[in-house]
Amino acid sequence: MSQLSPLEAQLVKRRTFAIISHPDAGKTTLTEKLLLFGGAIQMAGTVKGRKAARHATSDWMELEKQRGISVTSSVMQFPYGEAIVNLLDTPGHEDFSEDTYRTLTAVDAALMVIDVAKGVEERTIKLMDVCRLRNTPILTFVNKLDREGRDAIEILDEIESVLKIQCAPVTWPIGMGKRFKGVYDLRHDRTHLFSATHGGRIQEGEVIDGLDNPRLDEIVGDQAQELRDELELVQGASHDFDHADYLAGIQTPVFFGSAINNFGVKELLDAFVDYAPAPLSRQTRSRLVEPQESAFSGFVFKIQANMDPAHRDRVAFLRVCSGSYKKGMKMRHVRIGKAVQVANAITFQADERRHVEEAWPGDIIGLHNHGTIQIGDTFTEGEDLKYEGIPYFAPELFRRVVLKDPLKMKALQKGVLQLCEEGATQVFRPRKNNDLILGAVGILQFDVAAYRLRDEYGVEAVVEPVSVALARWVRCEDPKMLARFEEKAYENLAVDGDDQLVYLAPTRVNLQLTQERWPEIDFLATREL
Ligand code: GDP
Repeated sequence: MSQLSPLEAQLVKRRTFAIISHPDAGKTTLTEKLLLFGGAIQMAGTVKGRKAARHATSDWMELEKQRGISVTSSVMQFPYGEAIVNLLDTPGHEDFSEDTYRTLTAVDAALMVIDVAKGVEERTIKLMDVCRLRNTPILTFVNKLDREGRDAIEILDEIESVLKIQCAPVTWPIGMGKRFKGVYDLRHDRTHLFSATHGGRIQEGEVIDGLDNPRLDEIVGDQAQELRDELELVQGASHDFDHADYLAGIQTPVFFGSAINNFGVKELLDAFVDYAPAPLSRQTRSRLVEPQESAFSGFVFKIQANMDPAHRDRVAFLRVCSGSYKKGMKMRHVRIGKAVQVANAITFQADERRHVEEAWPGDIIGLHNHGTIQIGDTFTEGEDLKYEGIPYFAPELFRRVVLKDPLKMKALQKGVLQLCEEGATQVFRPRKNNDLILGAVGILQFDVAAYRLRDEYGVEAVVEPVSVALARWVRCEDPKMLARFEEKAYENLAVDGDDQLVYLAPTRVNLQLTQERWPEIDFLATREL
């Protein structure tokens, strides 16, 4: 066997993924258990504890606590066997879905959690659509088997028909709720018996080899035969696992378990490191970049504020796509065309931030940002690359920001622009007046914006309704046509935080009519960064 280069050796170990689920399906619980199995935390309860600690040290997240939701996401790296796993957390609340969408552009795989009682829920459908844009391979974990839920076969049918993806069961439950006895592992032909243990212990439980083993009948009684019959049925009706189909996003391997009981989680994690792809090549505007290329490159998919209020810093999360990051290296900030020295990038190892000496493709590093970094920015070792596919979505809700103290206009503008850079909200400045109009995907983003303006920028502002229903980015190949449009549509035109031209429609009908009247103009609902 030929020797792997240091870069290749790091590359083959890396697995970078996110968990997608509807709120309450068990994402937080599963995250915690994954970290537990990864040895990254000693005790269950730490992930929630970590969230609480963050609240305590961070003022504006008070709001998050009050609402009982997770506004921010973070990155956790942990070793598992030979692998190094990067788990990118995503906010559960739908008002922050843009953040989630962009985080999904930075992973190579996803884990879908489904509540056995609820099946496929609305948010899962949306997130799955986002995964499909890049054919992200997906593993499925059907959770809460310790409770009564829906028939396992019915759940598979629903995943197949609603999410349009083939299911290949890898484990299969023996009963559920009070009759839950364990899972049969089709991969290794063995049964893992269930015994409820909450808390931080890793559950060993008895393992019985072979489906026909009489020990199985001895322990689970009639349910052993039920299992055999059911498996026969399932294997006839469902798909065999096919690694290529999984990697292509056509098929999802399915696991059953109970996250809160640490049950079925090890099988899931073992299969995940076996099946999930190492960091993949990525498209830039000019060419495809392979992760094993020696020159460093990466892109920023998220900016997060004030995780450490003592520093009032903002951190840009960069996904390394090729080469390696070395402490103190010079990077080219492609959009502004400048070289920057990066001495103190940070990484997030389970719960502490520490300075990294190096990072490899698939890893996420945090760059301190003093306002020069935006979501979507590419950093390289010199080449003018621009990574593609990080979307901005046209907001669906709009509010005008009104200052209580007009002398604070400067502070307001600064605050609003910084919130925009983070992608927390979008700002539009109409051509016809000096209004600042905020746009968001969820109503809660306005509260967060007002709260943070007061807390971080000392600006008392309120948001009030404004007669804008939809926003569309305006593009036109023909400069003359565009100029004519700009003149005619003056009243409805604005620029966004990046000085891009936007049409603000007061109603859906208005937008429709305008589109019909100007067929040569493109009205875009998403803008690539
Ligand atoms: P998230 O909103 O997806 O992050 O969900 P959480 O992890 O916060 O879980 C939502 C609720 O379901 C919590 O009350 C959990 O304790 C509970 N839960 C999570 N996993 C299980 C499980 O395996 N069985 C049962 N019975 N409850 C669970």
